[in-house]
Amino acid sequence: MAVVKESLIDALREHFGFDSFKGNQEIIIKSILAGKDTFVIMPTGGGKSLCYQLPALMSPGCALIVSPLIALMKNQVDLVRSYSSKDNVAHFLNSTLSKAQIKKVRTDLLSGKTKMLYVAPETLTKQENLDFFRELEISFIAVDEAHCISEWGHDFRPEYRRLKEMIEQINDQLPIIALTATATPKVQSDIVKNLGLRDPEIYLSSFNRSNLYYEIRPKRKKEQTIREIVKFIHLHKGKSGIIYTLNRKTTEELADMLVANNIKAVAYHAGLDAGTRAQRQDMFLHEDVDVIVATIAFGMGIDKPDVRFVIHYNIPKSLENYYQETGRAGRDGLEGICVCFYSYKDVQKLEHLMRDKPLSEREMGAQLINETVAYAESSACRRKVILHYFGEKYEESQCNNACDNCRNPKEKIEVKNRVVVVLKA
Ligand code: ADP
Ligand code: MG
Ligand code: ZN
Repeated sequence: MAVVKESLIDALREHFGFDSFKGNQEIIIKSILAGKDTFVIMPTGGGKSLCYQLPALMSPGCALIVSPLIALMKNQVDLVRSYSSKDNVAHFLNSTLSKAQIKKVRTDLLSGKTKMLYVAPETLTKQENLDFFRELEISFIAVDEAHCISEWGHDFRPEYRRLKEMIEQINDQLPIIALTATATPKVQSDIVKNLGLRDPEIYLSSFNRSNLYYEIRPKRKKEQTIREIVKFIHLHKGKSGIIYTLNRKTTEELADMLVANNIKAVAYHAGLDAGTRAQRQDMFLHEDVDVIVATIAFGMGIDKPDVRFVIHYNIPKSLENYYQETGRAGRDGLEGICVCFYSYKDVQKLEHLMRDKPLSEREMGAQLINETVAYAESSACRRKVILHYFGEKYEESQCNNACDNCRNPKEKIEVKNRVVVVLKA
């Protein structure tokens, strides 16, 4: 096996210029190269892409990579190309391409030069594409962001549910690699079931983010909360931070209040036109502003390594969301402070948002909300609660006082009328 190991490292150096594998990358790559169905669960920033990119470069044929966001697909392909001397090593195929571009992609695929083809799920719903892929040599299928398949995930996309049948139309023997940063057991079993993974090799990395400090603060009157936030930001002057709020209007209000307090801040939400959104995102990335006050529309695919704090002005709708959103702090491994304001009123607001949804969805939503409430009200180590939620064993002695409950053991935050969401059809 030493030979294999050496050649893998050589291939890593040759193709990416890295000297060593991160975490489970090497063993995952071996599993993929052995043609096994493989399930990779690794936190954001862990290095999932390389797990399929390297085997794709080392295998005969072309790998198909399913990716949910058209906007991110181009970045991914550009990144792969930047490691290679040949532009046709990777392509994407989606609805943004012109006829001529599609023809070029197909020619490169047929010539065998292309090792990775990124596709949107929609691409696989087109029969002509499936017919075309059937004639190609495909090395394996990678399903990135595989949690999109599950309603229990934080980003459900119904098209993902049809992937299995579409893949089978291409070739029902193809190895499937599923990758996600979502570790809840429910989402995991949905992925294995829906993609029909055959006796998969499962690689679960730790989700502990030891450099993040978690804190819950009771939310009182609006003015007081804003004063607390202003004070916090002044204490961390010049540092980058994200404030998440539940609705669009609040992002604007809060950003205005911060600006009035000499803090460089902008609001960001899906109601702004694309140009304004891109401009504000750049202002944050280039540090023309320190703070971005945003709805959850902000963050997916944004890689600013030195975000020093994430404040939740409202409690998020699931612990999964909380983990993903706070996970944007401290990507560089340095300090990240995560403060969440919690009140019963905000829980009611979350419930209210679900009022027109079908009963099954409301039940699911209510369960997720109750789990975040339990987290907020817990007097146990925050990290332990989060990691247990992801099915990971963790003892609070490992926390090193990096959460409010470990640092200052205190009484529970008592919220009147402890929430049990009552659902009526
Ligand atoms: P994920 O998809 O898990 O969020 P990415 O695949 O985007 O993570 O990788 C995160 C970062 O880690 C990227 O900048 C990537 O270049 C880097 N990276 C991945 N593998 C290695 C490695 N073996 N050595 C050094 N850097 C790596
Ligand atoms: Mg990724
Ligand atoms: Zn703790």
